[in-house]
Amino acid sequence: MNQTASVKIPFVDLSQQHQPIQAQLDEALHSVVKRGDFVLGKALAEFEQAFAAASGAEYGIGVASGTDAIALGLRACGIGEGDEVLLPANTFIATLIGVNEARATPILVDCDPDTALIDLNAAQKAITPKTKAIVPVHLYGQMVSPSQLLEFAEANNLLIFEDAAQAHLAQREGYIAGSVGKAAAFSFYPSKNLGAFGDGGMVLMKDAEVAQKMRSLRNYGAPRKYFHADIGRNSRLDTLQAAILNVKLPHLAGWNQSRNLAASEYDKLLEPLKDMGIIPIQNQSGTGHIYHLYVIRVTDACPLDRQTIQDKLAGAGIDTGIHYPIPCHLQPAYAYLGYRVGDFPNSEILCEEIVSLPMYPGLSSEQVNFVVDTLKSLVIGC
Ligand SMILES: *Cc1c(COP(=O)(O)O)cnc(C)c1O
Repeated sequence: MNQTASVKIPFVDLSQQHQPIQAQLDEALHSVVKRGDFVLGKALAEFEQAFAAASGAEYGIGVASGTDAIALGLRACGIGEGDEVLLPANTFIATLIGVNEARATPILVDCDPDTALIDLNAAQKAITPKTKAIVPVHLYGQMVSPSQLLEFAEANNLLIFEDAAQAHLAQREGYIAGSVGKAAAFSFYPSKNLGAFGDGGMVLMKDAEVAQKMRSLRNYGAPRKYFHADIGRNSRLDTLQAAILNVKLPHLAGWNQSRNLAASEYDKLLEPLKDMGIIPIQNQSGTGHIYHLYVIRVTDACPLDRQTIQDKLAGAGIDTGIHYPIPCHLQPAYAYLGYRVGDFPNSEILCEEIVSLPMYPGLSSEQVNFVVDTLKSLVIGC
């Protein structure tokens, strides 16, 4: 291993995706500067249309971030004060922030330990007469089963609002992420599968009325200039960011495919490590999983603990992450929700076990082999 110790495998490497399209990116930026339509400009309208069409939605409304997409999107769907909204306990905090900002009441739900996706049986038990919506998170790039979601929502008369911030063009059962629910939120944070050169987000929907409301909410609550029908915000996706995203969008499917390919290689190579307690999060959606993250579990059956594994991988030049180390219900800011340790055992155990391995389009077979070989030598050697 000394020979290869100088090999560096970053957690994410975006330069690989930018290099081949650098000239187009420069050109796109210059054309916005030339037009000068920096706010709600032409490139934004083009990107909104293109991303909605690619995702099987009618309308796309660009906003300043994925967090705003959840907060404003829920409001555009009519969700607000007094409404209980179901969401997973093991998500990035922005899902919860969005529900909170819409002034709805967040009701957290545990996850399935194998897929880390929201457990709809657990969600069923959390239903009350006030439950109005569910925010399924297509975590790590894998969609929550659309057929099960739709059945669950119909049986309980709930609105579905997808958090698709990690799932641009993910597919399952013939559905594309963002086309299942009443509306869906996306993030274009730089490291997402489709990333801008800064913050950005979008809400997708099929309903013209929701789109209309959303357009008003992101633009000072004004359906027309200087007339304020809604208590709105200033939250628009910059035209410059949209111009970049327009250049990147045609490459997204290929990038996602590259991630999925690297993931199948990880899956195959990691198979023998199951006996040693290293278990990948399950893919139940085949090539439709876009692997925003590739996540393994370091379970009790593993002879090494997670921290040691991460430290030793780092020593070998391999960067890893944890997505996410603390479940939402145990975050200090949300103590007021009244949850305790033990309320969502699957989420709590996963938070202790998970490690995200390097994953990005262009991650080579050699690199995947090096990561798994290193992991093997650690676990089997002890
Ligand atoms: C990134 C992310 C968000 C928030 O997006 P921002 O653009 O960072 O505000 C929301 N939900 C999930 C699941 C995310 O991964």
